[in-house]
Amino acid sequence: RATLGVMGGGQLGRMFVHAAQRLGYFTAVLEPDAQSPAGRVSHHHIQTDYNDPAGLAQLAHLCHAITTEFENVPAQALQTLALTRPVAPSAAVVGIAQNRIEEKAHFTACADISGVTCAPYAVIETLAQLQAIQDDRADLLPGILKTARMGYDGKGQVRVKTAVELAAAWAELGGSACVLEKMLPLTAECSVLVARGWDGQVVSFVPQRNVHVDGILAVTHAYEGNMPPALADRARDAAVSIAHHIGYVGVLCVEFFVVEDGSEHGGLIVNEMAPRPHNSGHYTLDACDVSQFDLQVHAMAGLPLPQPRQHSPAIMLNLLGDVWFDVNGQPHEPDWHTVLSLPGTHLHLYGKLQARVGRKMGHLTITGPDVASVKTVARRAAGLLGLPGLDTI
Ligand code: ATP
Ligand code: MG
Ligand code: MG
Repeated sequence: RATLGVMGGGQLGRMFVHAAQRLGYFTAVLEPDAQSPAGRVSHHHIQTDYNDPAGLAQLAHLCHAITTEFENVPAQALQTLALTRPVAPSAAVVGIAQNRIEEKAHFTACADISGVTCAPYAVIETLAQLQAIQDDRADLLPGILKTARMGYDGKGQVRVKTAVELAAAWAELGGSACVLEKMLPLTAECSVLVARGWDGQVVSFVPQRNVHVDGILAVTHAYEGNMPPALADRARDAAVSIAHHIGYVGVLCVEFFVVEDGSEHGGLIVNEMAPRPHNSGHYTLDACDVSQFDLQVHAMAGLPLPQPRQHSPAIMLNLLGDVWFDVNGQPHEPDWHTVLSLPGTHLHLYGKLQARVGRKMGHLTITGPDVASVKTVARRAAGLLGLPGLDTI
């Protein structure tokens, strides 16, 4: 039997491991944390740093192909693994996705074929560039200053209204490489999951609409009518172009903003991409005949990519650690019994030992025969668990 490897031991790695094992593969996880969600369910857990040459050699020795579940895995480590094993996605594309400056340059380079651009932005790496904003780019304010590297779940971002606030925010972020993005009046957000094989074959899921609260994904709406069809088609085509243009192999998630632009379908703006399965695609586990993790396994292992088919409308609710604390901040166990008595609820817990506010602990997907009943159950569940975003369902 073949072994598939993954860099990183978080929940995405865990769900990848589950999908790989279901297809009969052995799995190996390289992850320093002894209690990681993926390490604990994998056949092999190489418990060491992502950069450790001995660990990387062991992973390459064990595995027939290797992927990553962790956006900030050192690109150099993937490069090392790629010397002896197929690695998907490649170090080069992961490197682009890890750096907002390179990522935006990529989006801009393929804007002609993708038909979408990013939000107006400027790179700030030096004091002179900071000064230049004040002088020439007042149009970018109010805006969001984002660190070029290592940000996720809205971390490493500061919202700024004035040049003075911008200067303070840049100092707060350590004077590191950043991008300042114009704050856009979003009417919606959506994302598209694409899987591309070594031979260039591409399949994709229908775009899902996402609701973020405090910069973290709260709710994903995945059903027909979740957004205007013409907009969904444009987003899907754009994501496929973006994957083709960098010769991507594996599962890619592209996030989009929707803004009012006076046209019938609104304006589509590309936000960022994640070189891996994505939180907004977790509903595919329960609502589709092939999940995003199945496609990741197929893509890296060189198996044919089946076009996924969604068989049920779905809403996914993210379960952050907040759910494990009562209104007084005391730890408590959520009332799973009542939640699971609701029809069509699928609870996924990632096996994390410690709940912390803001930490992704699991998710709940609701499927049903029609959108109305899915929404009714989702509202009940969100109410019972005190989840954010209830008013958007
Ligand atoms: P992720 O966890 O998705 O990787 P991230 O930390 O990389 O998140 P972004 O996707 O850049 O952050 O931003 C997080 C959220 O903040 C977006 O989904 C959106 O709701 C809001 N946001 C970001 N940029 C803008 C913008 N230019 N205008 C308006 N809202 C924005
Ligand atoms: Mg991001
Ligand atoms: Mg994002």
